[in-house]
Amino acid sequence: MSSFRRDSTTRAVIKCSECNCKFYSDEYGRENAADGCDCGNIDIGIMETLPDSAYKFLVATYYSRTPPEIYDEPLPPKEEVKQPERRIGFHQDEES
Ligand SMILES: [Zn+2]
Repeated sequence: MSSFRRDSTTRAVIKCSECNCKFYSDEYGRENAADGCDCGNIDIGIMETLPDSAYKFLVATYYSRTPPEIYDEPLPPKEEVKQPERRIGFHQDEES
């Protein structure tokens, strides 16, 4: 039984107790889960799971000196995707 849900309204935060660097577990995936904090205490990595697991991988946190603080915080409101303002053509009317 797992209470982990993809549509959760909270996200797990991993915070280094030494340099206060924060990592958000939902921002990591198989492609980018090699990260670390500024002071070198925390390392984020991927832990592969067994083939029949419901999850393909887990985000793993390692520390070398001080255990990280791990807690949930509300997800930020979804940002609306801003369309870049398109300008057709450009002016080159500067005369020098
Ligand atoms: Zn740190």
